Amino acid sequence: MAYFDNNSTTRPIAEVLDAMYLASEQNWANPSSPHLAGTRVRALIEKAREEIAEYLTVSPSQLTFTSGATESNNAILSSVANRHPINSGNILISAIEHPSISETAQFYFGENIHTLPVNSDGIVELAEFEKQLEQKQPDLVALIAVHNETGVIQPWQEVAQICKDQEVWFHCDATQWVGKLDHAGLNKCTSFSFSAHKFGGPRGVGGLVSSMPISFIKGGGQQMETRGGTENFPGIEGMRIAWGLMSSRISSLSSREVWRDRFEDYLSNQFSELKIIGKGVPRLWNTTLLCLPEFDNLSWVSKLDKFGYTVSTGSACSTARDQPSTLSGAIGLSNQESRRLLRVSSYSDTPELDWMGLAEAFKDASLELFSERENSGIIKL
Ligand code: PMP
Repeated sequence: MAYFDNNSTTRPIAEVLDAMYLASEQNWANPSSPHLAGTRVRALIEKAREEIAEYLTVSPSQLTFTSGATESNNAILSSVANRHPINSGNILISAIEHPSISETAQFYFGENIHTLPVNSDGIVELAEFEKQLEQKQPDLVALIAVHNETGVIQPWQEVAQICKDQEVWFHCDATQWVGKLDHAGLNKCTSFSFSAHKFGGPRGVGGLVSSMPISFIKGGGQQMETRGGTENFPGIEGMRIAWGLMSSRISSLSSREVWRDRFEDYLSNQFSELKIIGKGVPRLWNTTLLCLPEFDNLSWVSKLDKFGYTVSTGSACSTARDQPSTLSGAIGLSNQESRRLLRVSSYSDTPELDWMGLAEAFKDASLELFSERENSGIIKL
């Protein structure tokens, strides 16, 4: 099987699985316990915090381990809401935020959400951002760093600087950035979230870096009194190993965009009316969001599965709900077009050969889909 659904989750790296097994087998004591075994686990957790914080060039005290980016994003919005009397806080978020931002924002801020539109390439325009910032005077700005469906890179560095200059809290959902692109500059954000399973680490563990105090899950005062709950040491250790392995490789990954581009050229020659979302703007090296001219995306997914290629219909979260994601409306696609969106996303373990194999598989899949459609119109006597 050639796997092209890495923006939804990546395969855990072998060394990560080994480290998690060892952590579970040898260091299973409760890190809050005062005995030697417990304090050893505590020291290992703090070592992981220091190491990851060092890579991200932030202070270890700013990094809280969470169950992933959904929790991190929830914690930001609930913390900002808690700082203001009920219904008085207001926030500015982009129209293409992940549901862990957009739906949580709806819950806490309701009508006090101002939405930043995106253009047809799925990118926020800075002039519009500056206008809204001045007009709305929000308590928080949230902008995704790279969009999970399009791979389009948002101008978050510029937004971070403007917010810093104007002393506005800027939160960046960096879940698709961390582990795929150089993390320099993330420390300019007031806060940012990330998740280990997007870069070869385990699921259910991630982090939130914040220079502002955050209210997390209440409980037993773990993680320096910030987030309650016994720490998931095997998960944290797996994330540390994944991060160490990936961060040294990040600079070499971007050149792989030529593999993706060759795949897109091949497909564009094959399907003359193919649309590639965000083709003309900076995109993550691993992602392509296709709007195919024929057949619904689920037919493509199952046909390509049959040929040994795993792709996705877009965001895994919206697939589970069987409804178009907010992205398609935000970039002006019709309902019909949104049902023809297909996301292809590679990672560091995807060989060049698989991109061309996938391109060939599209050709074979389309022949079968056309032939099935023709045959389904024949009335057999
Ligand atoms: N934000 C973005 C941009 C994502 O892609 C995802 C995962 N699909 C999340 C947040 C949620 O991450 P997690 O699965 O760690 O909760």
